[in-house]
Amino acid sequence: MTTHLAEAPPANPSGAHRLARDARRELDDARDILADAVGADPGGVIFTSGGTEADNLAIGGVLRARPGVAVCSAVEHHAVHDPVDQSGGAFVPVDPAGRVTPAALEDTLARLEAEGRPVSVVSIMIANNETGVVQPVAELAEVVRRRWPQVVVHTDAVQGLPWLPLASLLDGVDLVTVSAHKLGGPMGVGALVRRADVPLAALALGGSQERGLRGGTQNVVGICGFAAAVAATAAARSVEVPAVTALRDRLAAGLVEAVDGLTLTVPGDVERLPSVVHCCIGGIESEELLFLLEREGVMASAASSCASGAQQVSHVLGAMGISPELARGSLRLSLGVTSTSAEVDAAVAAVAAGVARLRSHGGPVAGTDAERAPA
Ligand code: PLP
Repeated sequence: MTTHLAEAPPANPSGAHRLARDARRELDDARDILADAVGADPGGVIFTSGGTEADNLAIGGVLRARPGVAVCSAVEHHAVHDPVDQSGGAFVPVDPAGRVTPAALEDTLARLEAEGRPVSVVSIMIANNETGVVQPVAELAEVVRRRWPQVVVHTDAVQGLPWLPLASLLDGVDLVTVSAHKLGGPMGVGALVRRADVPLAALALGGSQERGLRGGTQNVVGICGFAAAVAATAAARSVEVPAVTALRDRLAAGLVEAVDGLTLTVPGDVERLPSVVHCCIGGIESEELLFLLEREGVMASAASSCASGAQQVSHVLGAMGISPELARGSLRLSLGVTSTSAEVDAAVAAVAAGVARLRSHGGPVAGTDAERAPA
């Protein structure tokens, strides 16, 4: 497999000549790596332009092939939430930690059945992009399998792929969304992986690529980068996960210690990704804090980075029962494999200083609008 992107064959993999065949071979190698990572056959990998397209294909593609109701958790990324919403689908409530319980899923499906609304697809993300909470996806898939075996089960594993051994966690899951840029691969490439031969129709028409399930010339360079990132991540996971988890715990403990009125959004005994600390800070506006943090070189966000800037209270926090007042002071700090304990300590100090400053001002901090980049 090509690991140097400049060496990716400069040819359309659908062609017949030698360079095209080389490109096709690169795609096939990449399919092997992706399939291995999620426990699927290589033929099940459908390359897309990213996680958003893969999520849209999972929901819209199943509905197109088998019309019915789409169901997802109330805390999904918008790439799942919005197609489910637009199709008139249903949402499964979460507990205060942001988890879907088997009972809540079963209740939702039973209610839809009683209403005569047959469900086609259920989508529950394996890890949340705002809070990092990990869902018991295999247990939830088992609920679906037991009573509604014809329902397709999808999981958005964009956040899980870097940190979790997905292949061992996805029993009963038919479709899996992954994206390259969450594990250091290029932006603008992802995949929907079919782990079982479930009904699925293409949304992007106009070519027979990806077994007719996603028309359009594949992004060969991006796909090579994606596969290289997946392989490198899998090889380093046993070292990197404990190291980043320790940093996460240091960050969480440091914040609680340094900032009065700060609550961790997810209790410490709930399974979370190593990469996220999410908290809510009473009496401040996150937008103001983000501005101060950025000046100290700490790039944080208030909700998911996709939603921030819109200054709406996150639907994820709302679904967890967090009041709009508290959610207005929400902060998500992310860690990666290059993070260090010195950076963690500096972030804690910056948050503490920023909060103290905001509280002492009792209002907006100084700074022109032009100075304030969107969060
Ligand atoms: N799903 C989740 C859970 C995400 O965190 C993201 C992006 O952050 C997406 C989907 C969208 O993926 P992409 O940015 O590759 O379109």
